[in-house]
Amino acid sequence: MRIVAKGLTYTYDPKSPFAAQALKGVDLTIEEGEFFGIIGHTGSGKSTFVQHLNALIRLTGGALKVGDYDLSDKKCRFIELRGKVGMVFQYPEYQLFAETVEKDVAFGLKNFRKGMREEEISAAVQEALETVGLNYAAVKDASPFELSGGQKRRVAIAGVIVTRPEVLILDEPAAGLDPLGKQELMQLLHSIHGSWCKTVIIVSHDMDEIAENCTRAAVFSEGRIAMEGTPAEIFRRADELLALGLDVPTTAKCAMLLRGRGIDIDTDFTCEDFAEKVLALWRAKEGGDA
Ligand code: ADP
Ligand code: MG
Repeated sequence: MRIVAKGLTYTYDPKSPFAAQALKGVDLTIEEGEFFGIIGHTGSGKSTFVQHLNALIRLTGGALKVGDYDLSDKKCRFIELRGKVGMVFQYPEYQLFAETVEKDVAFGLKNFRKGMREEEISAAVQEALETVGLNYAAVKDASPFELSGGQKRRVAIAGVIVTRPEVLILDEPAAGLDPLGKQELMQLLHSIHGSWCKTVIIVSHDMDEIAENCTRAAVFSEGRIAMEGTPAEIFRRADELLALGLDVPTTAKCAMLLRGRGIDIDTDFTCEDFAEKVLALWRAKEGGDA
């Protein structure tokens, strides 16, 4: 499903003295098949934007289409849309509630896929838990509250992917995880993206995460899009990102330092690309010296 937002605006509590305009006209297209990154400061409108995509926040200004669903249409089939656009909130583990892991993960299915038989539900729950790297037999009867932090996060993700959404949105999915946990989570997302999930959208503060994982990204700033493009296109504009008070990936920092020393090195901004470019320079120099 292709996502097209045009002139999206949104204000919280519009009639109160605390009215906060969170989106000030967002134009963004996310193609089917992308692994898309959304970057920006706290308060720049990232969460407000992504919550529009499955109509958790109803459209009040601008236009938004997700596949054939026109979210400006009051007759849009919102429940059906939510079965196809899965949303993993920030710190989703705080939303676990059922007595057992099995019931928690099954909850989403029962909501969105009415009329499934019990065996089909168990099979889907088992598959979702195993996809996120948990042993079904070992965890299904446990209380979600007995699990470790990392396991809880996996259960919460299983509860969203159990409906096999075509578009999976994750708001700061790696926040609070240790480096290994982050790496495992990204591997999990790529494996889902490579199989049945067509589009993955992650909101992230971590520029290295965006550089290493995304096909394209958008930088939000004060309710608008400040930049959009491939990680290479965005991080080549490192000075502008720094001026916005945002960080840049480690590879971009290294490239800037080298540029300051007169070595102009353009990388695609993954560590691997960076290493390749440095090696190529090194080899050229060795060849030149010989
Ligand atoms: P981000 O996810 O980039 O941190 P948000 O979309 O959460 O940004 O917030 C954008 C703006 O909207 C901020 O100014 C924030 O204070 C305000 N905001 C977010 N959620 C609410 C809410 N539930 N009620 C009132 N204001 C909100
Ligand atoms: Mg947020």
